[in-house]
Amino acid sequence: LLGDLRRALDAGDVELHYQPKVRFDGQVAGLEALVRWVHPERGKVPPDEFIAIAESSGLMPHLTEYVLETALAQVARWRAQGLWVPVAVNVSPRDVHTPGFAGAVAARLARHGVPAGALQLEITEHVLLEDPQRAADTLAALTGHGVKMSLDDFGTGYSSLVHLRRLPVSELKIDRSFVARLAIDNEDAEIVRCTVDLAHSLGLLVVAEGVEDDETWERLRDLGCDAVQGWLVAAAMPPDEATAWLLARGSRGWQRPRAALPAAE
Ligand code: C2E
Ligand code: MG
Ligand code: MG
Repeated sequence: LLGDLRRALDAGDVELHYQPKVRFDGQVAGLEALVRWVHPERGKVPPDEFIAIAESSGLMPHLTEYVLETALAQVARWRAQGLWVPVAVNVSPRDVHTPGFAGAVAARLARHGVPAGALQLEITEHVLLEDPQRAADTLAALTGHGVKMSLDDFGTGYSSLVHLRRLPVSELKIDRSFVARLAIDNEDAEIVRCTVDLAHSLGLLVVAEGVEDDETWERLRDLGCDAVQGWLVAAAMPPDEATAWLLARGSRGWQRPRAALPAAE
């Protein structure tokens, strides 16, 4: 699989799909780029699976370069069409520990003529496990260039308040595992409430991942969450579909379907 992935990257056969993050007033806060690979014999390979392979084999820097390059080219195309929407790219702890990563990102932005504010990088707390000082330096350099950082999958794994204080992030994404059961599980609801309050008191924006239904959307709005991402709004879409989605929403942004509201007629 590793060899096939390497060849697929070289041949440009790996795609990026884009999933919107929307605020409660409907405004599109950004799009997250999510990598998609269809293996010629095995069919769709789940990202978690091939990302783990890339991580453990040393292919990760290559994959990340590919994703950044593809995403920035897309941002530049959207901007040329008048669609000024920021894009978030997932980066692995490996990337953050690669010497020169921050400078390489800045150079890539410049080459595409994309301002740093149009790029967001999603990291996980795992970046702090290996070499916290190196990670902190890289992240400081990135934010110094104007790139916004987002802390992904918050609430899983090694979450700790110390990490939150140490990482120069401007956004926190509450993991899907808490969001999914929010409407039916009081403890999950309390965890989400506390996370939103904590994040806000630290001056961070809060995005909830994996929002699939209206009830969850309403609970998150009432808890003061800033934006949602999930199938309720849209799944990750291929570039053309994402462009059509953005154009169709226009300045009104995303509105919940009429069917979800009490019947008027
Ligand atoms: P993530 O960054 O937390 O991305 C969110 C995942 O949740 C995506 O899975 C997305 O398709 C899925 N999702 C979004 N809305 C919903 C929903 O309403 N319900 C459910 N059940 N799922 C939802 P995906 O695309 O399979 O990606 C999995 C993980 O793989 C990502 O989690 C991210 O950690 C990693 N990943 C994806 N693309 C890249 C990439 O380009 N580079 C790196 N380093 N990692 C990536
Ligand atoms: Mg992510
Ligand atoms: Mg996540």
